[in-house]
Amino acid sequence: MKKPFHYTKPVCVMLSVVLCYVVVYYTLGNIEMTVPTSLTYPDEDFYIVLDAGHGGMDGGCSTADGVPEKGINLAVMNEVAELCRLYGYNVEVTRDGDISVHDKGVEGIRAQKESDMKNRLDLFNKHTNAVCISIHQNNFTDPKYSGAQMFYSDNNPESERLARIMQGQFVKNLQPENTREIKLCHEELYLCYYSQNPTVMVECGFLSNPDEAEKLKNPIYQKEVAFTIFSGINEYIEGKRG
Ligand SMILES: [Zn+2]
Repeated sequence: MKKPFHYTKPVCVMLSVVLCYVVVYYTLGNIEMTVPTSLTYPDEDFYIVLDAGHGGMDGGCSTADGVPEKGINLAVMNEVAELCRLYGYNVEVTRDGDISVHDKGVEGIRAQKESDMKNRLDLFNKHTNAVCISIHQNNFTDPKYSGAQMFYSDNNPESERLARIMQGQFVKNLQPENTREIKLCHEELYLCYYSQNPTVMVECGFLSNPDEAEKLKNPIYQKEVAFTIFSGINEYIEGKRG
């Protein structure tokens, strides 16, 4: 059943959304976009929760020349957050800088990491009506492997649909040759595994592949990845309203 339109938002927000699409269109002209046919605003209690993996002392995996994924994750997440806010979504993020999200006063690397993951999970489970996206970069011993891949948990039955849509957006917008399957995650992907909302962990690409690493370090490509994730979120939500 379609939900009624909300006309309560100020006109400036509508103009911002239109302007956003114009800017994105000219910035990312080579991308086939999922542009909404109507400006339907999300519900007041609906949230997009975004996580940039790692941060602070935990850099995650790195490119061959030593660029850690934590900064790439944050750059992509910031772009996704900006697009979502312009579109009118409520957005919350696990971190907005190069930090670990552990509680103050927690000592020791292991305890800080546990506190960090718990706090991220608390944010993913804070709202009962949310879509959660965790952004990471992949790594493998053999540098030949490349391409985005989505991970999901069966904790929420909607996560598989979100993952399938997101994988499809990467294939459509950025990687037509990508034949990777979406993957059910296990407990080691803690945040993804225990999130109660529809959740996907987006592995944007392999830092161990030199060509893909160069792309992922590039701010223009980071914007393209972010727009792809934003399009996936929108396609998922439009399907829910169906
Ligand atoms: Zn990671």
